[in-house]
Order: sequence, then structure tokens, then C-alpha cells
Amino acid sequence: MRGNLAIARKKSGCDLMAIVKAGAYGHGLEDVARALESEKIAFFGVANVGEARRIRDAGVATRIYLLGATWAEERAEIVARDWTPCLSSLEEAGHFDRLAGEMNKVLRVHLSIDTGMGRGGFVPEHLPETLAELKKLKHLEIEGVGSHLPSADEDEDFTKRQFDRFRAIIAELGGPEVFRWRHLANSAGLLGYDGKWCNLARPGLMLYGVSPLPGFQDELSTVMSLKSRITLVRTLPAGHGVSYGRQFVTQRPTRVATVGVGYGDGYPRAVSGAGAEVWIRGRRFPILGRVTMDQTMVDVTGCEEIEEGDEVEMFGANLPVSEVAAKAGIIVWEVFTGITPRVKRCYFE
Ligand SMILES: *Cc1c(COP(=O)(O)O)cnc(C)c1O
Repeated sequence: MRGNLAIARKKSGCDLMAIVKAGAYGHGLEDVARALESEKIAFFGVANVGEARRIRDAGVATRIYLLGATWAEERAEIVARDWTPCLSSLEEAGHFDRLAGEMNKVLRVHLSIDTGMGRGGFVPEHLPETLAELKKLKHLEIEGVGSHLPSADEDEDFTKRQFDRFRAIIAELGGPEVFRWRHLANSAGLLGYDGKWCNLARPGLMLYGVSPLPGFQDELSTVMSLKSRITLVRTLPAGHGVSYGRQFVTQRPTRVATVGVGYGDGYPRAVSGAGAEVWIRGRRFPILGRVTMDQTMVDVTGCEEIEEGDEVEMFGANLPVSEVAAKAGIIVWEVFTGITPRVKRCYFE
């Protein structure tokens, strides 16, 4: 991860908010936060206060930025613990201001602007007036301004215009010097576009070793490998069904290895019948029939050396997770965040 972080820093030319929402994309929130704490990251970006608490409970002191909206009943804790919300409305700004006033403090907040994502932030109408209103709130410091890219990995023209638009909005609000932090780019945004005039980037996926844009994958290092072991190897005769629905039936005597991993671990069931492969002893083998909850069958015919107990990589350093996602018809983010708590996380430096 540290190598990927260094690449994000170099490509963006900015300080970083490391996105660790959804349990650090399934990698384990506490362990990732602890590992990156010493890396001089400006913020950890989390989805909600539950994740913010977990970072603090892990003893990590890095500043925390809340990427989503907040509930009214959570805000006193946010103020008390100096977490940084992004604001989408004057109502929530007013509430934060009152709470901060009661606690005799000034809360640092960011102004979120909707330049195309349609999920949160102020819609860019009357923004100068909005900022003027916010500046009247004496217990808030408008420390930053941010927006989000909906299609940096799909629509280059739109994304370029979004960068221009965000820049124009900042100019309209008084120029870059008004905001200590200016941020727009996710992984695809920082890899594929020139956003150095922002001074903070928010990479998620690329920190976990996957590039959302073609052309950068070679520079990143794999972080997560999903591994299991062969629990059983048998030879089935021709005409024998394998797994639920009997969608696969052997055409010849087939040496079938049963692997102790399934969709109950988060390995996507949707790869069933799509030609997905696994990695055993240095080569690929095809999955047979449907992935079940706890077990998956693999054709190891012709490889007599393969035996019970052998390690099986479902994806990772030898078999790209992007391939599994493509076969399942889902995105890599979904594969990572889908790995369930049952899977033991082991960490290596
Ligand atoms: C999740 C998220 C990111 C990170 O996106 P990646 O594509 O994983 O790099 C950045 N910014 C915001 C607002 C997000 O919600």
C-alpha cells in the first residue's frame, strides 16, 4: 500500500486524503489506518461516524473527513471530536455552528459542491451568497471546498469540463487562497487529469492496487490476495454433474478439486459459468459449475501433483481481481467490499 500511496502522491502532486470507507475497501479499517498513520496523510476519508469512531478506537490520530451526509443526532460527537464534515446545506451548517458555539469552539468544515455527481453538496447556484451566509457562522471555519467526479473513468470530456467548472467556481468564490483545501480527484481523476491546482486528492481504489484507468496498472502493487486451500480432490466419471443446478456436467473423467471458499466469503457467485479461473501451483485452472456458499469446484484434470491442502489464489498477485470482477459483471470496488468478515485478514509489510 505504501508504494501505491507514493504513486498517488507523485501523480497528483498534492497532499492526500486516503479513502478508507467501507472497512478500507474490505482490507480492514483499523489495520489500514494504523499502517498509514505514519505516512503524513492529511485526512482519512470515511463514510460515516461509525467508521470515524473505529479509527479513533484504534488509536489513530490522523484527521478524519466525513464523505457523506450526517444525521442531526451525530453532530455533537462530530464537533466534540473535531471530525471534519462536508456541508451540503445551510441547515446543517447552522446546526454545526450552534453545537460548536455551545462547546466554545470553532469547527473546521468543508463546503461540498455538486458539479455533476448528483449525490450531495450545494448545487452551484448562488454560491457566493451561500458562502457569505456560511461566513456569518462564527463557530465554523470554512477550511476547504470539494466536489466529486461521477465518470472520471468513463467520460473524459465531461470530466475535463468538470475540472474547469470547479476551478471557475473557486475563482467565483474569491480564488484558491480562500480555501486551505481544494479537492476534486478520486483515483481516476488524479491519474488521468491535471488537477494540480487543487491541493488535495482523494484516492481510494488505487491505494488498494487497482487502477480504474488502463495504462497505470503496472505501476501499482497488488494489496489483497484472496486465498483458500483445496479440501478434497476426486476423479468424477463422465456424465457427472458438478454443483447446484447441474449446469456443468463432465464430458470426460474429470479430476475435480473442491476449494474451501464461496460466496459466503464474498467470492462472487456471479462468475459461475463465466469462465473464471483460479491459480494453483503456478498456473490457472477453470472453475466448474456454480460457486456455492462455502465451496467452489475446479478442474485440475491432468495435474496429478495437485493435492488436498494446496493453496488456491482466487484473485491477487497472480490473478487480477479486475478479471474476476469483469467475469462477474461487477466492479472491483464491489469485489473488495464484498469480502466478508469470515475471511481472515493477514497483513504483511
Ligand atoms: C469513494 C470516494 C472516493 C474514492 O474513489 P476511488 O474511485 O476509489 O478512488 C473519492 N471521493 C469520494 C467523495 C468518494 O466517495
